[in-house]
Amino acid sequence: MANANVRVRFCPSPTGNPHVGLVRTALFNWAFARHHGGTLVFRIEDTDAARDSEESYEQLLDAMRWLGLDWDEGPEVGGPHAPYRQSQRMDLYKDVAAKLLEAGHAYYCYCTAEELDARREAARAAGRPSGYDGTCREVGAEDRARYEREGREPIVRFRMPDEAITFTDLVRGELTFTPENVPDFGIVRANGAPLYTLVNPVDDALMEITHVLRGEDLLSSTPRQIALYRALAEIGVGNGSTPSFGHLPYVMGEGNKKLSKRDPQSSLNLYRERGFLREGLLNYLSLLGWSLSADQDIFTIDEMVAAFDIEDVNANPARFDLKKCEAINADHIRRLDPKAFAEACTPWLRAPHANWAEENFDQAAWEAIAPHAQTRLTVLSDITANVDFLFLDEPVEDEASWTKAMKEGSDALLRTARAKIAEADWNAEALKAAVVAAGEEHGLKLGKAQAPVRVAVTGRTVGLPLFESLEVLGRDRTLGRIDAALARLGA
Ligand code: GLU
Ligand code: ZN
Repeated sequence: MANANVRVRFCPSPTGNPHVGLVRTALFNWAFARHHGGTLVFRIEDTDAARDSEESYEQLLDAMRWLGLDWDEGPEVGGPHAPYRQSQRMDLYKDVAAKLLEAGHAYYCYCTAEELDARREAARAAGRPSGYDGTCREVGAEDRARYEREGREPIVRFRMPDEAITFTDLVRGELTFTPENVPDFGIVRANGAPLYTLVNPVDDALMEITHVLRGEDLLSSTPRQIALYRALAEIGVGNGSTPSFGHLPYVMGEGNKKLSKRDPQSSLNLYRERGFLREGLLNYLSLLGWSLSADQDIFTIDEMVAAFDIEDVNANPARFDLKKCEAINADHIRRLDPKAFAEACTPWLRAPHANWAEENFDQAAWEAIAPHAQTRLTVLSDITANVDFLFLDEPVEDEASWTKAMKEGSDALLRTARAKIAEADWNAEALKAAVVAAGEEHGLKLGKAQAPVRVAVTGRTVGLPLFESLEVLGRDRTLGRIDAALARLGA
C-alpha cells in the first residue's frame, strides 16, 4: 500500500569516491520513496573535518545525478529542514547535547583513554562485558572539582537505559539488545565536536525520518539510536516518533569477504568510465538483496520502483558478481533504441577515447555499423576498439593478433581471398561467399579462413561480424589493407 508519508534519507559521509555499496543504499532508499510517493532527503554527514572533503562531496552529488537518483530535500534543492550539510548545523547539535545533559540523559565522562583501556582489559580478562562501565554516571561535586583541577577535559556520554531494547527490523524481524551489549557511548568529543552517534539520530528526528534503510554494518548502532530517539522525544526534539529500521544485507566480494571500499571493483567511477548504462548498473545493484521475481533478472528502473518494498529485501548476504553485472548491462544496451544507442556511444567516439583523428570520423559509416555493435557490447567503452578500423588510416598494429592469425599458408589463402573479394558484389552475403570459397580451395573452414582477412583489415582477431565490417569499410580500403598485409607477409 502506498504511503506518501514515507520520509527516508540517504546520508553519506563525503570521504573517498562513491562505491557500489553506497549506491545500493541510495537506490533502495530512493526506490522506496518513489514507490510510496514519499520523500527522499539527501543529507551530507560531514562532521569529520579530518576525513571529509569538498571533492568527495561534489562527487557524491555528481554520482546521484548521473544515476538519476533525484532527491526532494537536500543540497542545492533545499527544503524545510535546511541546511542539509551537517557541518552547517553544529550549533544545533551543541544545543541538543546541552539539553540532554540538563535532562540527565547524558553526563560528562572524565575517564582518560588510558583508564578506559586498563578497565577494558581487566573486564576482558575477568570475562565481563568490556564496554564502558558507567564509572562517570554519578560523579559527585568533589570528584568533578578534582578532575577539573587535574585539567581533564570531559566528553559527553549518553546514558543508556538499563533495560533491553527490542525493535522489529523491516528486513530481519524482531531483534533484542540487552544492556550489557549496549554500553553508554560518547556523543560529544572533549574538544566540543559532536559525534556521528549524536548528529545522525538528531537529524533523523528533526527531519522527521520515518524509515532508516541502511547497511547491516550499522545494525549495532540501532539500539543506541532508538534510546537516543526516546530521550529526544522527552526533551522535545523532533516529532516524538521513532523511525522503523531496515538493515540491508552485506555485499560480499571475492573469496566471500565483505566487498570493501578499497576493492577496485567497488568504485562507481570505474563503472562510469567503462560505460555502464545507469539502467544496467542500477538493475544489477537492485539484485543485491532484492529481486523483482524469481524468473526475471532484467527490468527497468520504473519496473523496480513499481515493485519495490522494503519487506521484500532478503537478509542473507548478497554476492557481488561482476560477470553478472556486465551481462545485465549488455542486456540493457541491446534494449536501447538504435538512436539512443548511437547517442550513448558518442563520448567513446571522441577524444580522448578515440584513437583516430577527429576529422576521420564518418557519421554514415558509424550509423551503418552501429546496429552490429549494439548486440555485442558489454560496456560502451568497448565501442572504440570495435570500430576504429573504420576511422584509422591503417588498422591498429596488434602483434599478438597478427601472430595468432598469420600462420603458414596464410599468404596463399589471403591471395585467393583477395581475388574472390575483388570480384564479389559489395554486400556482406557475397563477401562471405567469397571467403567461404577461398577457404574451400585451401581446405579451411570459414572460421580459419576468415581470421587472416580479419586481422589484415581490422588489425585484431576479434571484433564485429567481419563481412558487415567489410561492407561498411568499402572495396578500396578493404583490398588496400589485404594488399598491405600480403606485402608484410612477403608474398
Ligand atoms: N553517514 C553514515 C555512513 O555513511 C550514515 C549511516 C546511516 O545511514 O545511518 O555510514
Ligand atoms: Zn568516565
